[in-house]
Amino acid sequence: MCLRRPIRSRTEDTAYSSSGRSSLRLTGTLPACIMLGMETAYKGKLMDGRALAQRVLDRAKAKVNRIKQETRATPALATVIVGDDPASHTYVRMKRKRCEDAGMKSVRVELPLGTTTEALVDEITKLAQDTSVHGILLQHPVPAPIDKRTAFEAIPIEKDVDGVTSSTLGRVILGLDAFKPCTPAGIMQLLEEYSVELDGAHAVVIGRSPILGRPMASMLINAHTTVTLCHSRTRSLPSIVRTADIIIAAVGKPRFVKGGWVKVGAVIIDAGYNEGNIGDVDYENALEPASLITPVPGGVGPMTIATLIDQTAQAAAQQFGIDAAD
Ligand code: NAP
Repeated sequence: MCLRRPIRSRTEDTAYSSSGRSSLRLTGTLPACIMLGMETAYKGKLMDGRALAQRVLDRAKAKVNRIKQETRATPALATVIVGDDPASHTYVRMKRKRCEDAGMKSVRVELPLGTTTEALVDEITKLAQDTSVHGILLQHPVPAPIDKRTAFEAIPIEKDVDGVTSSTLGRVILGLDAFKPCTPAGIMQLLEEYSVELDGAHAVVIGRSPILGRPMASMLINAHTTVTLCHSRTRSLPSIVRTADIIIAAVGKPRFVKGGWVKVGAVIIDAGYNEGNIGDVDYENALEPASLITPVPGGVGPMTIATLIDQTAQAAAQQFGIDAAD
């Protein structure tokens, strides 16, 4: 018999006993379960970020249509990019395309290499004051010597649809309403979609950046998960990761998390995106012990963009003062 996984799948029935505690009747498609003596190994089940992202985008498009009908105006996302980094330009093109697919306007601001922090702040301030722009995205990394934090802070919180300002982060930590940093917010939606039990589970987040690892840890804590936040100074990382029910890899190093670090049945979220479509997890070797795993590409990436688009539609609705709730 298979050991019970630390996750629940939507395809499973939940039965409630008289004690009020839930027990699981496993009825749906589950990862292949392989007996290894007393141990059970899982052949990982993929978490389909593309499919969920499409549903989020469809929902955003419906919001945009409602806004257009009620206001006769078109919601708009401004994308600001500095310099000529090809990868950054590709990301921005993808975001603009999704924005237009959802029926919104995409306002392009492209600044040359050598732009100063002051000039960038001036451009963002103009967008902040422009009532026809509802969301502002500053593509990062921004080239040196720009002070990224100063530039981010020029985005007003009501237009911070990428969730990068310190005010947004503070609200996220406190569990208050805000447009959230898109990658961790997309990950939370994936965890919910696959009914991963967060309450009381142990998550190990590897990476502490302000746009990913830190808000990820906060969102999980707010969902009653016990969180260990690791970074480059963490000692004995493999042994910490081995205790995780949920692993969030946000390191920026290809195949960094090894298969041997993964507890049998763990859920793996690979937020990494490295050259050659390679994630931060050694996917081939982590697939076996994992109960659920995000592929790269097709996992976290599509959810990040879909969250951005959905939050832009929501920002427009709020600025027009109309209810575009799902
Ligand atoms: P980042 O700002 O470079 O942060 C990387 C984090 O990893 C830092 O906190 C760093 O620790 C930690 N780290 C580095 N080496 C480590 C090691 N040997 N052991 C443990 N921790 C280590 O990167 P980021 O912006 O958060 O992005 C992380 C990854 O997510 C990248 O692969 C990026 O491409 C990807 N990403 C994907 C999306 C998407 O939409 N899919 C969006 C954003 C980012 P220190 O703080 O100690 O330096």
